[in-house]
Amino acid sequence: MIICANFKTNHTRKSVRAYVDALCNLETDHQIRIYPPSSALFKPKSPKQIKMGAQNFYPVKNGSFTGEIGQEQLDEFEITSVLIGHSERRHILSESDELIANKFNFAKENNWEINFCIGEPKSIRDRGKEAVLNYLETQLKSIDVAYKNLIIAYEPVWAIGTGDTASIEDIKEILDFLREKTFAPLLYGGSVKSENVKEMFELENCDGVLVGTASWDVESFKSIINQA
Ligand code: PEP
Repeated sequence: MIICANFKTNHTRKSVRAYVDALCNLETDHQIRIYPPSSALFKPKSPKQIKMGAQNFYPVKNGSFTGEIGQEQLDEFEITSVLIGHSERRHILSESDELIANKFNFAKENNWEINFCIGEPKSIRDRGKEAVLNYLETQLKSIDVAYKNLIIAYEPVWAIGTGDTASIEDIKEILDFLREKTFAPLLYGGSVKSENVKEMFELENCDGVLVGTASWDVESFKSIINQA
């Protein structure tokens, strides 16, 4: 399983160090990804299945892009895993499909692992299953779904940070649909916690989870990993 922690705008470098140290005590063969804020990136001296990744980057080596970080800054910490297309960047920070596609192509050229997030907003959900599937298909159109270092995270926008999770039947249906489009590992994200993760791990096409809120506390994240 691939089990990812998205810290969003939480934690500091000091607290991320303590978090990673606490996680290193856990014996696991699962692939763990930690996405801290950019200011807390560092190269962890941890087992190689625990990797640090970037929540964001601008698709340049370096340059004049105030407030952004590029390849040079990620290289400093040997970061080779990136989140792209997270709903908070699409909807709160107004990232365009064009920028998202540019980021994807840049990350692919660098051979980075891309954790690509897709998911429908509530307005689409309310229009029914076909509208949802069409929406997700459109989000995949601008990327190379055959890219070898791709992970796809299905995260319905209305389930992120709300405590509402998609039903297990809906998650299964969407992951089965995505499996027909790509061989990339498929994750579910959206209010995942230790109380609801087990049935997700049991789905045939679920290769892991992307966890926000329930990952910020290391014991809570560990209990999710322990159920994989
Ligand atoms: C996320 O940020 O990707 C996420 C799924 O958040 P949460 O678990 O808080 O819904």
